[in-house]
Amino acid sequence: MKVALLSGGVGGARFARGVTAAVDPADVTVIGNVGDDLEVLGMAVSPDLDSILYALAGLNDDERGWGRADESWRALETVSALGGEDWFRLGDRDLGLHLVRTQALRAGEPLSSVTRRLARAVGIEARLLPATDDRQRTWIDTPAGSFPFQEWFVARGHRDDVDGVRFEGECTPAPGVLEALGEADVIVIAPSNPYVSIWPILAVPRIRGSLRDREVPCIAVSPLVGGHAVKGPADRMLARMAGGTSPAHVASCYAGLIDALVVDEADPRDPLAIRAVVTQTLMTDLAASRRLAETVLAAA
Ligand code: GDP
Ligand code: CA
Repeated sequence: MKVALLSGGVGGARFARGVTAAVDPADVTVIGNVGDDLEVLGMAVSPDLDSILYALAGLNDDERGWGRADESWRALETVSALGGEDWFRLGDRDLGLHLVRTQALRAGEPLSSVTRRLARAVGIEARLLPATDDRQRTWIDTPAGSFPFQEWFVARGHRDDVDGVRFEGECTPAPGVLEALGEADVIVIAPSNPYVSIWPILAVPRIRGSLRDREVPCIAVSPLVGGHAVKGPADRMLARMAGGTSPAHVASCYAGLIDALVVDEADPRDPLAIRAVVTQTLMTDLAASRRLAETVLAAA
């Protein structure tokens, strides 16, 4: 079964790992969000692609939820001591990847091509693609003003309420994205933050068009458990921008694009305009991620 998965960072990466355990990883294409990419200390950082890459390679830190396991922070300590830009946490091992990517991008290699090389180098069998090779940047509108995504999320600790999200950049899909969506037997939207992880992917017009015109099922997994985000601000954002945190509110983020929504047992069973699939969605370990992926794929 060929799977195309739209994914953000942490929630998406946990789920992606389950999908590659449930089916042949060679049949899986993960399309990752790049709206939160940024430049730090002169380096090109792609946080969501890297969360997925580390998770699929088994190199991720499960406790922290992002970055690499067995990490150290000597370089960042030096940056701080020297009065450098230290608001964005980059570990020593992680830095090595950013160096390689930054050099390749500066030499003119597209992000999708660098990502393919990196994924191969860490032994990933699934295909990992950025949604676009173009520069896309997510902006967050709040009562305190508009901020680039990482300034709102990391520097301000996502404390500001969100009134809207915007995506800067006219983007076309990265090579392979439309092909993967067209060849898939099922398109899955990971349990990621709809607004800041999935919407940037859907903001690429030809990706949205491909989902709208799909001939195969598209199934989204809710990132909420009992109306609460497992991590991060998705619940607050849904309450403010969609008017609530029920499955219907989550489904409204993907109106016209999905045929089913997978929701947690702890959430209300209100009738949805689309099919609801109720199961345990908390991915506490790889076995739980795999079970969730199997349930999602069986619903296709
Ligand atoms: P980010 O880019 O690192 O913020 O990652 P994502 O957008 O992919 O993931 C964040 C979302 O994942 C949050 O809204 C969480 O509620 C959700 N999430 C994380 N772990 C789980 C889980 O085990 N089950 C479910 N259903 N959602 C999860
Ligand atoms: Ca992200």
